[in-house]
Amino acid sequence: MKLLVINTGSSSIKYKLFDMEGKKVLSAGLVERIGEEQGHIKHERFSTEGKAEEKTETLAIKDHRTGLKRVSALLQDEQVGVIHNPDEIQAVGHRVVHGGSRFSEAVVINAEVKEAIQRLIPLAPLHNPPNLEGIAVAEEVFPQAEQVAIFDTAFHQSMPDYAYRYAIPQKYYEEHRIRVYGMHGTSHQFVAHQAASHLGIPMHKLSAITIHLGNGCSMTAIKEGKSIDTSMGLSPLPGLMMGTRSGDIDPAIIFYMGTKLNMSIEEIDQELNKQSGLKGIAGENDMRAIIARVEQGDQAATLALEMYTYRIKKYLGAYLAVIGPLDAIIFTAGVGENSTMIREKSCAGLEHLGIRLNPAKNLQKQKGIQEIQDEESAVKILVVPTDEELSIAEQTYELVRE
Ligand code: ADP
Repeated sequence: MKLLVINTGSSSIKYKLFDMEGKKVLSAGLVERIGEEQGHIKHERFSTEGKAEEKTETLAIKDHRTGLKRVSALLQDEQVGVIHNPDEIQAVGHRVVHGGSRFSEAVVINAEVKEAIQRLIPLAPLHNPPNLEGIAVAEEVFPQAEQVAIFDTAFHQSMPDYAYRYAIPQKYYEEHRIRVYGMHGTSHQFVAHQAASHLGIPMHKLSAITIHLGNGCSMTAIKEGKSIDTSMGLSPLPGLMMGTRSGDIDPAIIFYMGTKLNMSIEEIDQELNKQSGLKGIAGENDMRAIIARVEQGDQAATLALEMYTYRIKKYLGAYLAVIGPLDAIIFTAGVGENSTMIREKSCAGLEHLGIRLNPAKNLQKQKGIQEIQDEESAVKILVVPTDEELSIAEQTYELVRE
């Protein structure tokens, strides 16, 4: 079965085409700068050995519909195509950011599901509208395909109320649905599954802490295979220090910015989401650049790195306390999979809790899942590459196969 995974942003469409027999990636690409004067498309076709051919195009892409039609044409292109007819695509899996309390798993999209995603727009004003647009356009371009939604919040729906409620007046929860939802659910769930099968533990028995460190960063406490707490909240802003997001701060800072500094809500939002985190402390958000500066003795970069790993360590302690005996700590995403320094600093000094990283194993680079703990470590420390698109493809396949 050929299955397309789509991640639609406000001005972009990321896509990957899978052949689910053998779980092969046939093709992948990115449509960018939709609605601007000059748009851009990068399309790749893969052979069984990996990357085969690439085609890039610079052209005006008026809207998402135009973009996805172009993708469909590229998928059928003589040179770089992999299908002959759009009807060969039997299912489309859509990443949808916010599923609220309504969705705890992937669903086949129908009118009622679309209405529900629409009603959740106040909770994810930047993300759910383009996700809905992606669905509408895919229904037109691939009319024969079953459309499936996979929600970033779904995995965290198992959290108990005492973990997901905020200690603010009841009415904000009851009337405005303000609570912790958490994000990156697809990634946390995927790496936990991978770790469980690597360790030979059934998923429903796995207790783990997953640490997703990309541009956005979050951690999840997993007990008996279920998310019981996570560091993001109503939005992706709280929790760990991120590339440009502040993570946890005293909410009174916002009152100070508003009343003493006369900043508008929009300005504060921008400051905390786009100008904070690594960027706020060290002036840039790319972890590779920060690490290079740390190695040259740069003070701001060193402070940023200390803050970043200190926050991870605090959450490790907190989650250890709420989970109890732990099977594994799992590092994933761009920083988690690649930065030996971040992994070492985050785990340093936790030997009394049974967490012992092996410096030599941590430095070894290998493909796939890697164990980096010492022999005496009570807890396994794993590096597990995340693959959100594959996870979306698998969940979509499970649903449509039925
Ligand atoms: P996104 O959230 O956009 O999916 P990624 O998971 O790709 O992000 O992670 C991006 C981050 O990973 C960037 O900060 C980048 O600097 C960092 N990164 C990538 N490779 C390395 C590396 N070798 N060492 C340290 N950080 C890295």
